Order: sequence, then structure tokens, then C-alpha cells
Amino acid sequence: MPIAKLGEPLVVVDSVNKHYGDLHVLKDINTTVTRGEVVVVIGPSGSGKSTLCRAINRLETIDSGTITIDGKKLPEEGADLARLRADVGMVFQSFNLFAHKTVLENITLAPIKVKKMSKKDATERAMTLLERVGVANQAHKMPAQLSGGQQQRVAIARSLAMSPKLILMDEPTSALDPEMINEVLDVMVGLAKEGMTMIVVTHEMGFARKAADRVLFMAEGEIVEEATPEMFFSHPKSERAQDFLSKIL
Ligand code: ADP
Ligand code: MG
Repeated sequence: MPIAKLGEPLVVVDSVNKHYGDLHVLKDINTTVTRGEVVVVIGPSGSGKSTLCRAINRLETIDSGTITIDGKKLPEEGADLARLRADVGMVFQSFNLFAHKTVLENITLAPIKVKKMSKKDATERAMTLLERVGVANQAHKMPAQLSGGQQQRVAIARSLAMSPKLILMDEPTSALDPEMINEVLDVMVGLAKEGMTMIVVTHEMGFARKAADRVLFMAEGEIVEEATPEMFFSHPKSERAQDFLSKIL
């Protein structure tokens, strides 16, 4: 039974290898993410999840193999790289908002600079996005005046402002106080339901069950298992996955 959604491939990771010195952090990684698919990446700390995300966004170089996004091979540098970054949204564990800009400016900055949108259009769109993630009433505050959950929702709105083809999220709720996790997960589930293509590193199994089409389990730089959430959580095949799940569930 095919587990990928039918549709065209949006991200193709083909035989990717990456080393940090002697450490082989990505070992012959192969996977394809189709348009509209939601892929959850889980695995022990140090297994290469963040490195894989950063490679897909070209924040890290790779040693061999290829990564293709929407039919285009990842560029090395220059204007093509800026275009790629506009296509791929990234949400980090540590919000990464611009501290000296208001919430609204955080969102309008890239559309105005990179997409040459008018300030008026960018502001209108930003307000719509802030509304959607439930923080429109905070638009004129500085990031530090917001709670962690609110800041992360602003970060999601900021990535949406560029109309990306894909959003990568690396442990987007790991730095949040427990009572704020759900407000961010709800936004993520909403995005998934609307058909956004997402690669999400998270240990939030509720999100994986609700929203993921596929779970990738990584250990020691390899994709050890790839399955639907139902299959993965009820019948993990490998000993490493069984062991990992026994510790987190
Ligand atoms: P994960 O996100 O699954 O916890 P990472 O991708 O962050 O794993 O890291 C994979 C391995 O690569 C770890 O052993 C980590 O210590 C190492 N690593 C990550 N970034 C660097 C770096 N910039 N330089 C050297 N080693 C790194
Ligand atoms: Mg990580």
C-alpha cells in the first residue's frame, strides 16, 4: 500500500550524505514529500533531524546526493538561493523573531523587501495572517511583550507571509511552557488541514496522529522507518523505534 499521498513530488531527497568532521550525520537519506503531504520526523536527540531540515532549506551544505524542491535542484548560492528561501518557510524551536521590530513589522519585512510588495498590501496580508493565528490584537507590540506561544504563532504567520510551497518546522513547541503548546499545535493542525506541505520535527504524538500522513523515524543519521502514524505507533518494526517509543509514550 503506498503511503505517500498521490500527487507530484515537491521535495525529493536523493542519496544525501553529510559529515561534520568524522561524524556521519546523514547517511544516504532518501525520501520524497508530495504536495500537500504532512511528514513528521521523530527520533532520538542527535539522530540528524535538524540537520536534515537545515539541508532542505540549504542552511547547511551536503557532501553528496541531491535535494530537489519543486523540480529545482538546491542552488549553491546567489539569487537562486534567495528564491529558494522564499519558497521554503522555516519555523525554529526558538521563535527567532526580530526583537527590535514590532510583530507587524516582523511579518511585513520580507514580503516588502524580497517580494517587493507595497507596504499597504503587505500590512493587509500580515493582519489577515495574524488574525488566522489568533494574535491580531498584538500586532503593534514588540515580540518580548508576547508569551512564547504567541511569539511562535507570529513566527508561523511570518513564514506564511511569503506564501511558501513548503514549511519546515524544527521542534516548534519544544521551548514552550506546557500550557502554550496546544495553541501552537492547533495552528499547525489547521495548516495541515488546509493542505500546506509540511515537514515537522516534533515529539508531539498527538499532532502526528491527527495531522501526519507519514512518520519518518530517524536514528544515528538514517531513516530507519517510514510509515503512517497508525502503523508506526501501533506496530513499530525496528527495535530502535520500539525502544524510542517505549521511552516517550
Ligand atoms: P537532532 O536534531 O536529531 O537532535 P542534529 O541534526 O542536531 O540532531 O545533530 C546530529 C549530529 O550532528 C549530532 O551528533 C550533533 O552533535 C552533530 N552536529 C549538529 N550540528 C553540528 C555542527 N554545526 N558541527 C558539528 N556537529 C554538529
Ligand atoms: Mg534537532
